[in-house]
Amino acid sequence: MPSHDLTTRPPDHPDHLTTPTLRPPDHPDHPTIRPHDHPTMTIYDISLPISPELPVWPGDAPIVIEQVEAMDAGAPANVSRLSAGAHIGTHVDAPHHFLNDGRTVESLPLDVLTGPAYVVHFPDDLDDITAAALEAASIPTGTSRLLFRTRNSALWARRVPDFRKDYVAVTADGAEWLVAHGVRLVGADYLSVAPFRDPGPTHRILLGAGVVVIEGVNLWDVPEGEYELYCLPLKLIGCEGAPARAILIS
Ligand SMILES: [Zn+2]
Repeated sequence: MPSHDLTTRPPDHPDHLTTPTLRPPDHPDHPTIRPHDHPTMTIYDISLPISPELPVWPGDAPIVIEQVEAMDAGAPANVSRLSAGAHIGTHVDAPHHFLNDGRTVESLPLDVLTGPAYVVHFPDDLDDITAAALEAASIPTGTSRLLFRTRNSALWARRVPDFRKDYVAVTADGAEWLVAHGVRLVGADYLSVAPFRDPGPTHRILLGAGVVVIEGVNLWDVPEGEYELYCLPLKLIGCEGAPARAILIS
């Protein structure tokens, strides 16, 4: 329950969670961070900013963030309330989402959600991530975590507020290719890994094979190559999906 005792309450303000060495560079929208104590290391924050301006899946609950107590109005603390669906912004899908099998999001393996990952770039004129497109993409053999940068990422860079049905996604034969090549985690740069016109097959193939699906990553300024991925979904009990913070480190 909310407590207003500041001696026991963990810090709410994002500044309290950010160490001075993790300050972003000049541009406030730029997600990359070069920690001062690790000058050779770059952190790419590939998470989408959660606000009412962020598009959500058609028919899903809107994102509502409201301040319920305000120090400007005399309250002892600022307190906000969040109301939203489980598939907002950067989020993971659990098998229960399309398989109704009880494998919900709190059971997703953390050792798959973290570890070496490869970001592959597809050309802007690619409409579908098919098996042929994956075969042609020179993905290193043995890649087990694979994130797709497509023209979708430009939508996030431009902050396009409306949901787009023409996003680039993985076809069913692309999903089969991923499973056959031992991929255990995929990251898609729009709000679904599967085409809007027919989302079932791709989801069922990937989730059925135990592939962890991250949706809604912003790879706009992330070069193609190898990274260390950290994706930590909220530990929502019994849910088929959960929002996540996701970063890539090079
Ligand atoms: Zn989802």
